[in-house]
Amino acid sequence: MRRTHYAGSLREAHAGEEVVLEGWVNRRRDLGGLIFLDLRDREGLVQLVAHPESPAYREAERVRSEWVVRAQGVVRLRPEPNPRLATGRVEVELKALEVLAEAKTPPFPVDAGWRGEEEKEAAEELRLKYRYLDLRRKRMQDHLRLRHRVVKAIWDFLDREGFIQVETPFLTKSTPEGARDFLVPYRQEPGLFYALPQSPQLFKQMLMVAGLDRYFQIARCFRDEDLRADRQPDFTQMDLEMSFVEVEDILELNERLMAHVFREALGVELSLPLPRLPYGEALERFGSDKPDLRFGLEMVEVGLLFKESGFALFQEAERVKALRVPKALSRKEIALLEEEARRKGAGGLAWARVEEGGLAGGVARHLEPVREALLKATEAEAGDTLLFVAGPLRVAAEAMGAVRLLLADLLGLKREGFRFLWVVDFPLLEWDGERGGWTYMHHPFTSPHPEDLPLLETDPGRVRALAYDLVLNGVEVGGGSIRIHDPGLQARMFRLLGIGEEEQREKFGFFLEALSYGAPPHGGIAWGLDRLLALMTGSPSIREVIAFPKNKEGKDPLTGAPSSIPEGQLAELGLKVIRRG
Ligand code: ASP
Repeated sequence: MRRTHYAGSLREAHAGEEVVLEGWVNRRRDLGGLIFLDLRDREGLVQLVAHPESPAYREAERVRSEWVVRAQGVVRLRPEPNPRLATGRVEVELKALEVLAEAKTPPFPVDAGWRGEEEKEAAEELRLKYRYLDLRRKRMQDHLRLRHRVVKAIWDFLDREGFIQVETPFLTKSTPEGARDFLVPYRQEPGLFYALPQSPQLFKQMLMVAGLDRYFQIARCFRDEDLRADRQPDFTQMDLEMSFVEVEDILELNERLMAHVFREALGVELSLPLPRLPYGEALERFGSDKPDLRFGLEMVEVGLLFKESGFALFQEAERVKALRVPKALSRKEIALLEEEARRKGAGGLAWARVEEGGLAGGVARHLEPVREALLKATEAEAGDTLLFVAGPLRVAAEAMGAVRLLLADLLGLKREGFRFLWVVDFPLLEWDGERGGWTYMHHPFTSPHPEDLPLLETDPGRVRALAYDLVLNGVEVGGGSIRIHDPGLQARMFRLLGIGEEEQREKFGFFLEALSYGAPPHGGIAWGLDRLLALMTGSPSIREVIAFPKNKEGKDPLTGAPSSIPEGQLAELGLKVIRRG
């Protein structure tokens, strides 16, 4: 006897048909006389009914939730349809029921979502330990299937556009993306190690040198990062690279790809082209290089107004960022916002209330000389609160940016929907105060803006990169650049980053060599697929869209990884463990 249908696929049109179903018992109800079983498979569930006179009745009495069964019966119209279920107009009158596997009681319920009811979340550690049960839940299966559709849409689109999928190696040499490498010991020669790739960056560039012209990969990447909020040590990128292109070509292709993905996977239409914002403007207006555009609350630079105001705090600051809040904030709310600003390095958060007659509270007294100009610049009206952060650009803007985000939460401004934008014209380099040197903002293979090349050695901080980030609802979901394709410029870049000749040769010699054999101008991008999916599903964490993720400590409660290994295996690898005291 073989399965004829998925339980969740039965509809009125099947009435009268004899079917064989296989799946899990979602729930069992004994109504004294009749036994009802909800049989579940990945497509949904259908109600089975066992009458006392049916040979199936004895087995139906015995089965419990999550047992695996094979059911044979006839589809009937239900006297009382259940509007909450897609199969709610039919039921299956059982003729035979066979238990294929018994099951222990799961440590948390997995059935609610399938019945159209809200799923209660068990503790995450428990969910991860029993991930195969967690993945039985409807929401989790929805996520995995959406992920499949997204990847399928990417494949279809890029295939049509002439991209060739290539798998690049996992066991390789370090590819820097700003994190630590995971290392794998080489048994044949103790002391040698492979590195797991932080991205396929160097390989995809060498594929361009090879002449593939258009490459892509759904690529696993490995980064040993300090465990911050929502990261996984291994994660997935949609990675692509193109030859003979400029920034605009890559943005345009990616917009169409993203629109295709949203249409195919979610039925959502994105309006193209996506907005573009230079990094400097993003910082000045939103205090972030990944602004959330679902709400306004733009900040205004008012520093100039105070140049002769006599209010030392504002007069001497590099920037004075003002934010108009359309609400009279309470002291408590202001204190909360100030705490946020300080957390981001600001000295404080100044404020004043806008009233019919003028300004009141906070620093109102000091604002009096410039009141009119200030109200005009911020477009503030009676009933508003004005907030200010003064300081160096990055500090003032980013502190106010954090205040802006918190305000959006407080005022409930974060609307539903998907607000994309490109952030472009990033600086090429950042000053690393700790190391006392310049460091790259994306990775060391990013091309400087050709107009800024003369500044590379004289004023590196002002050099723009041909780099871009794709931002969705305040989250960076992609990033890439036009690359350096001239080996001379690449070596110059390494020098600027403080990577000496020796180190260059040792770490990237093969790559500089590759560039010297005729590299086409090229560029590309990678999307963080997990992050994108988390946003598409409205999930609080990327762990919700990864089948078998690690927990917040980077450990896997299911398999117990990472785990210790026997002495013998260590010896074979020529390794000795030094335990931390
Ligand atoms: N390799 C880069 C990253 O992982 C993406 C790119 O530049 O294409 O962020």
